[in-house]
Amino acid sequence: MDIHEYQAKELLKRFGVNVPRGGIAYSPEQAVYRCSELSGDKWVVKAQIHSGARGKAGGVRICATEEEVADAATWMLGRKLVTHQTGPQGKLVSRLYIEEATSIAQEIYLAFVMDRKLERVVVVASAQGGMEIEEISEKEPESIIRSVVDPAVGMQAFQAREIAFSLGLDAALINQAVKTITGCYRLMEETDANMVEINPLVVTSSGEIVALDAKLSFDDNALFRHPGISELRDKSQEDPRETYAEDRGLNYIGLEGRIGCIVNGAGLAMATLDMIKQAGGEPANFLDVGGGASPERVLMSFKAVLNDKNVEAILVNIFAGINRCDWIAEGVIRAVRELELTMPLVVRLSGTNVEEGRKLLADSGLNIITADTLAEAADKVVEAWKAARDA
Ligand code: GDP
Ligand code: MN
Repeated sequence: MDIHEYQAKELLKRFGVNVPRGGIAYSPEQAVYRCSELSGDKWVVKAQIHSGARGKAGGVRICATEEEVADAATWMLGRKLVTHQTGPQGKLVSRLYIEEATSIAQEIYLAFVMDRKLERVVVVASAQGGMEIEEISEKEPESIIRSVVDPAVGMQAFQAREIAFSLGLDAALINQAVKTITGCYRLMEETDANMVEINPLVVTSSGEIVALDAKLSFDDNALFRHPGISELRDKSQEDPRETYAEDRGLNYIGLEGRIGCIVNGAGLAMATLDMIKQAGGEPANFLDVGGGASPERVLMSFKAVLNDKNVEAILVNIFAGINRCDWIAEGVIRAVRELELTMPLVVRLSGTNVEEGRKLLADSGLNIITADTLAEAADKVVEAWKAARDA
């Protein structure tokens, strides 16, 4: 789960990391009011969306007058901001964060990520901040520092000091840098974050280290033990197809193709995606209905798949062990009737109660294409989809 920049900064502050003062605004009037609260003579208006690279898309504006703040707020609010991370549909801006402007002497990149191979948290840092990490690794690869944290002892002060020195920071800044680095690590550990990215972490012209931007991402499987973080979720920033499925306990990932998939088991679901591609089609989603799926759960899976308006054909692939093919068939029949499904539907059933399941489908009188093997099912769905498309 991702959260907004202002929420991430609030958390960082609790762990002793310096952040600029700021306030949230939902309207241009509120944005102007925040400026008077903050006082000063320069402010930054920042669009709160779950994406980086907002600056290049017009989502970060430094303003010197209240009129400029109101103009920036008016332009941003209600807009779908398109960055190279959002995809072409963009993300809706409905909240702004208004900050006192910071005078920057140096921009640093600082991130804490999980290295799956090492099974460790790795600190990635560069004295060439401001750019994105992909750009840094392309233009200034030698500037990137990597430091692996030993989970048994956590981030120690000496290791943080080493990172700070490698960044070439002035001796007077080392203690602040150590506080920042250890604070980020404690935050990551205590909240089960997958990633903490501060870009840029800046040295201000008055010699302070401040997190000017912050991106935090959490392990979904650990959210149950952090109710305070779960409530920071902003569903308006997520893929609505995935939110719908996730809220109903379905394991779903949205993809870009036209062929919807309902499968049991994550491994079989992956294999099904491969087979569809091999047959010349493109899958619209990954969906694992899980074990012991009731007819209601199958119906719900159809709804989740059909939420995606790109779907033009559906493949149901069940290898029933714990599942029962007759329940699956019942669910399929209910879905076709209740959702008035007219697009091509291919069903492959195998395993427990397969004969009962096949009989239910055959006796339903519905236009359902059946298949015995996965390869046959994939070929049939792609063929039926093409025929329907060209009809
Ligand atoms: P992002 O584009 O989504 O990564 O948003 P950031 O918060 O990183 O802002 C983009 C860029 O705007 C930063 O890299 C800074 O160069 C600049 N910026 C943001 N806030 C300030 C500020 O308070 N003062 C100055 N001078 N520049 C800022
Ligand atoms: Mn940034």
